Amino acid sequence: MHEMSLAQSISEIVERVAKNNVASKVSRIKLTIGQLSGVDIPSLMQSLTICSQNTIFEKAEFEIERTEGSAWCMDCAKTVPLERIGNACPSCGNYHLSINGGTEFKVSEIILEIKE
Ligand SMILES: [Zn+2]
Repeated sequence: MHEMSLAQSISEIVERVAKNNVASKVSRIKLTIGQLSGVDIPSLMQSLTICSQNTIFEKAEFEIERTEGSAWCMDCAKTVPLERIGNACPSCGNYHLSINGGTEFKVSEIILEIKE
């Protein structure tokens, strides 16, 4: 399952950051997930719930930021919105597209509580 391995990499990143900062708790984790990243958010959240059990981020709140998919259309010579990989250009209907946005998947923010 793709989402489970993503959840595991997120867990590793969060635990490393928490450890390096001697945090007592992770309160919030922000993820940036592009519309074209192919990530299924409900199953990612399910995997994260499993991965976070008995860890420093067990009680952390997750915030998901979605970025819109976009592509450069060679026929229109402009950037157009793209809902899915494989779709045609919404302006001209051609497929001469080069994806230029919405494929990201990253941990963009981790809020920690630091021990006194
Ligand atoms: Zn076009």
